[in-house]
Amino acid sequence: MPVRFLTALLAAVAFLPALPARAQAPELPDRIAVAWRTDHLSVDPRLAIPATELDRIRGAMRTAGVPVYVALVPRTPYLAKNRFDLPTLLHARIGEPGLYLVATVDDKSWATNAGLYRQGGLRGRDLTSVRGDDKQRFDIVSDRPAPQIVRTIQHASTAYDGRALPAVPAADLEPERHRGLSVTDKSDRAAYVGLGVGGFLGLVLTLMIALRRRGKPGRSGTSQRAVEPRKVQLKADGKIKQAERAFGRLDRRRNKTTKLLDQRDDAYRRLDAARTLRADQPDDVLASAGALVLARQAERIASGAALQPPCFFNPTHNPGTAKVDWSDDVEVPACEWCASVVRRGDTPPGLLVPAKSGLLGHDRKPVPYWTLDPEDSPMVATGFGALSDDLADRITGRKEDAR
Ligand SMILES: [Zn+2]
Repeated sequence: MPVRFLTALLAAVAFLPALPARAQAPELPDRIAVAWRTDHLSVDPRLAIPATELDRIRGAMRTAGVPVYVALVPRTPYLAKNRFDLPTLLHARIGEPGLYLVATVDDKSWATNAGLYRQGGLRGRDLTSVRGDDKQRFDIVSDRPAPQIVRTIQHASTAYDGRALPAVPAADLEPERHRGLSVTDKSDRAAYVGLGVGGFLGLVLTLMIALRRRGKPGRSGTSQRAVEPRKVQLKADGKIKQAERAFGRLDRRRNKTTKLLDQRDDAYRRLDAARTLRADQPDDVLASAGALVLARQAERIASGAALQPPCFFNPTHNPGTAKVDWSDDVEVPACEWCASVVRRGDTPPGLLVPAKSGLLGHDRKPVPYWTLDPEDSPMVATGFGALSDDLADRITGRKEDAR
């Protein structure tokens, strides 16, 4: 009898302190920061991670040569909004130099976000540039946490002290599959704008210049307002989430055929570029619209649907399922609405953005994005991928060039 009573009492005591904590739960960054006071590897209590995975992560943390903070958390609505900012928020709370890494899991697909913070004046490389150089990063499995986390820690070590990046162990790699794009793939991708591979890039530039000359939308009269950046950002983030879920579903399929693996590759490339755009230029409306287009395409491809180009005039519109003649024999993909405007002989208002030029900043009248200089933005240069389907590659390539 006394034993049973004691058990009941202990259960009650164990339960009581949990109540006020639940009534006013601290924010996730605060919870992680507190957990890191006792252990630099923090695992959310809702997750059950095998000990072998945690041992591997600890091993990598010990040999990193730089302080490493790791948190494993399930993807929640809070995280969907703040995932990219979490390393910064956590570093602000801890205040020490080091690698701050947050690994999130959605269903069974893991993703990592990390920031490397160090004292000024030290030599070393940018974490993003090391990551961009690592061709194997696309091949690492995401169905368990250690492979991606260990790789990110290795990236940080290379960025920090210049040590060589080791090869990824075979067990962490997706099964063998085709790498790189064949000419046929490229011509398939070029097909939807009606251009062949030969001289393709040169044509795109000429096209963009012709389109710029064609200029501004005319007469529709109503005062034209620039697109609201916040709306595009929310749309892009929502779409990135959907793409991640579609990607997770694809990842969980067993016995993937070569075709499925190619789909996975293509979807990931676009998703990665979309995330990069949002992370690197969070306030830029062109970057947010580019992320929206790429995430939408990633979701479709991961779900097995055919690739669709965006509406050339406004990438936030429905995809460009119609084709319209717009400028001197140039055909562009457009949404049904914009296509009907063009067929009437008008120019759709398009995606309007604040003009960069203008003396003393007075001339803030919004302009269609295609009148901006294509040299300044891969989104403008490719019509958000409507003119050439290489936006994702340009984003990733840019990341790799930024050394
Ligand atoms: Zn449109």
